[in-house]
Amino acid sequence: MKAYKLNSGLSIPSVGIGVFRVEDAAIAYDTVKSALSVGYRHIDTAMIYGNEESVGKAILDSGVPREEIFLTTKLWNDDQRKGTVEEAIKLSLKKLGTDYVDLYLVHWPVKETYVTIWKAMEKVYREGLAKAIGVSNYNIHHLEDLLKETGTVPVVNQIECYPYLAQQELVDYCLSKGIVPEAWGPLGAGKSDVLVNPVIVELAKKYAKTPAQIVLGWNIQRGLVVIPKSVHRQRQEENLEALNVNLGEEDLKKITALNKNLRLGSDPDNITF
Ligand code: NAD
Repeated sequence: MKAYKLNSGLSIPSVGIGVFRVEDAAIAYDTVKSALSVGYRHIDTAMIYGNEESVGKAILDSGVPREEIFLTTKLWNDDQRKGTVEEAIKLSLKKLGTDYVDLYLVHWPVKETYVTIWKAMEKVYREGLAKAIGVSNYNIHHLEDLLKETGTVPVVNQIECYPYLAQQELVDYCLSKGIVPEAWGPLGAGKSDVLVNPVIVELAKKYAKTPAQIVLGWNIQRGLVVIPKSVHRQRQEENLEALNVNLGEEDLKKITALNKNLRLGSDPDNITF
């Protein structure tokens, strides 16, 4: 499995399975079990997704040794505001049925606390509750504040990223600082026509791949981790196969040129939750 090296020394598989909006316990369980059986070794969940218990149970029942799986969960905004990082991660670990996560992310940059919360994140890292710590939805100015005022560089910045929101400047900034960029909503979150965009469809024909594989492959080749969500085994396999896409330079540029700064999710500078 292709992987990127994190600045803490660990490796992160470049394709993971996302489980946002998979609230039903049985479906979440089946999704993770099926993903592990087709070869995924990276799972992306969050406290707020409400499925940590199902994810943990599926890992346990899968027969795949825990140490072979890269598991991410996230600190929700309420806990960030209350400063209850240690309590929050311990509760997540209990639900996940494990004594560490590979990666713990600050889910969103809450305006008043996105810098100060990092000290508490560093503490859970030192205590071994998380093997690595990172952030999510941080823009360049958030990262600059963090780097200026704290000691540990986040290993990852998980951001919304698909062809209509290429985020090239932020991606370049992360890569220049040794922060691995990770794309959420990499397929357009089921809300976009990106998979039927004529440029993508034409490239899919040219490379004998599916549109989903082209879009994921573009991000992987730009140095991003991708965490597409699918509850269906066949699509999980299809998405994992994006590892074998090899787009030429000109074609990568063609996809990046589809950018229109179109967010489907919340704007990190204006969150209301
Ligand atoms: P996504 O871009 O992964 O899109 C998922 C949808 O795409 C599916 O529901 C399905 O409708 C469709 N799909 C999946 N595979 C397909 C295929 N091969 N062909 C055609 N359609 C396909 O969107 P997402 O779930 O929003 O994002 C992925 C993951 O990112 C989430 O599950 C979650 O783990 C993470 N995430 C993080 C944040 C954050 O704030 N950090 C926010 C949203 C999502």
